Amino acid sequence: MPNCICGCEQPTKGGKFLPGHDQKLRAAIEKQVGGLEVLREIAEAHLGRKIVAKEASE
Ligand SMILES: [Zn+2]
Repeated sequence: MPNCICGCEQPTKGGKFLPGHDQKLRAAIEKQVGGLEVLREIAEAHLGRKIVAKEASE
């Protein structure tokens, strides 16, 4: 069984995360970088384009 990639190192049932641990990792990343707005700036710099939420349904 693979271990959860959030950092808890507990075995999953085959997925990358234990239930809810994807949200825990997202929250931890946001906290470390200084918030969602900063995280977006970092991601935009990495991608070389803007990220907008209005196309999230596509
Ligand atoms: Zn985990």
